[in-house]
Amino acid sequence: MNLVLLGAPGAGKGTQAEKIQHALNIPILSTGNLLRQAIAAGTELGRKAQTYMDGGNLVPDELIIGLVAERLKSPDCANGVIFDGFPRTLPQAQALDRAAKVDVVLSIEVADETIMQRMSGRRTCPQCQASYHVTDNPPQKEGVCDKCGAQLSIRHDDEPDTVRSRLEVYHRQTEPIKEYYGAQGKLKKVQGQPKLADTVKLVSEALGVSL
Ligand code: AMP
Repeated sequence: MNLVLLGAPGAGKGTQAEKIQHALNIPILSTGNLLRQAIAAGTELGRKAQTYMDGGNLVPDELIIGLVAERLKSPDCANGVIFDGFPRTLPQAQALDRAAKVDVVLSIEVADETIMQRMSGRRTCPQCQASYHVTDNPPQKEGVCDKCGAQLSIRHDDEPDTVRSRLEVYHRQTEPIKEYYGAQGKLKKVQGQPKLADTVKLVSEALGVSL
């Protein structure tokens, strides 16, 4: 099954993707994580992407589409993929339709003000990219990743001004693709809840899988 997770930055796509990954046993393809890995590795793509990311803007479609096409060639993607943070523009959605059959698009809906509050508590593992929240989804040991033991940090683009730009970019460039998938009859919407477990329950019902 190919599943697209849509939602504003901080809506909880990454957290839900991790739950779904374990239930369906298919990999997560997060373009944000692939870009951060490229930056950490100092590749040409990473250098090109960094300026856009630091400003809260989208990385150009051609770079993203190439990155996704490359990742989809891996054998572990053969049984389906959970797309997290991709597509983010109409041309990306159209390119994805040419590359793979999208089965379901799940949009996690969260109000901007809630996002602004949430992002201030988000902590990310720079090593394995796992995502936490200081109060809503804390690690077992404060400041330490449950999965790999690395020290958690605040993502550079989670600073309030950058989050505001990212939300604006989301509404202008990404939200229109809901209509595109709605017209294909693939769009399901879930209201993000204050408690993580409640959102997981709604996602589980929407997808018809036990999470
Ligand atoms: P994310 O981790 O998904 O919030 O992505 C972090 C940043 O990476 C975004 O603010 C964009 O600058 C860039 N990015 C990630 N995915 C995409 C995409 N599909 N298209 C364009 N830019 C992207």
